[in-house]
Amino acid sequence: MNHHAHQAGQAPPRIGLFGGTFDPVHLGHLHIARMARETMQLDQVRFIPCRVSPHKPDGKPAAFAHRMKMLELALANLPWAVADDIESHMDEPSYSWRTADVLHRSMPEASLFWIMGGDQWTALHRWAEPERLAACVEFIVVARGVPPEPRAGFAMHPLDCTHPASATEIRRAIAEGAQDHPWLDPVVAAYIVSHALYRREDG
Ligand code: ATP
Repeated sequence: MNHHAHQAGQAPPRIGLFGGTFDPVHLGHLHIARMARETMQLDQVRFIPCRVSPHKPDGKPAAFAHRMKMLELALANLPWAVADDIESHMDEPSYSWRTADVLHRSMPEASLFWIMGGDQWTALHRWAEPERLAACVEFIVVARGVPPEPRAGFAMHPLDCTHPASATEIRRAIAEGAQDHPWLDPVVAAYIVSHALYRREDG
């Protein structure tokens, strides 16, 4: 299937936008994307790593190029998934509404869906101009325990699925010497080892 060629008479392409730090991408992210795709009949899911994470409590994330490369490795065998480096080309800070707006203008015929965890949905009022994001996307909200509250004026589809994987725990395990992790794609684990990512500063 060609997701880019949109011809008159065809249903408009349905595209999921999945933003995150992806530090590193793990099986939980892949699970969510797969469930969102199946449930919402998405033609494609774009994983969009953010350039900087303003929300990281435990220091700076791995370099953008590393996080992007790990995504490419993890998505290589999924024909419906792509890693999109759009936020590396945009002015900082990379607000989600700006990213969605650029994508909307580059493919005006597509229906766009913003995939996020329930924690982020709850904190959406703290995002920059969430109503501008809502103007070009519908939301797919992955519930982590609590079902997401509806928001007036925001089209939202709850997705009842979770996964135990946590990037924070993966980084901690690697800092403590793990060479691999059950929540990592083995190719991503090998990349982490060969680039010495997430090792403790003091070795
Ligand atoms: P960290 O532990 O570094 O915060 P994270 O995986 O929670 O990592 P992101 O990489 O930014 O953080 O995740 C992208 C999105 O995926 C977020 O919206 C987050 O809520 C969601 N997410 C991540 N892991 C899971 C999971 N295991 N189950 C459900 N949602 C998840």
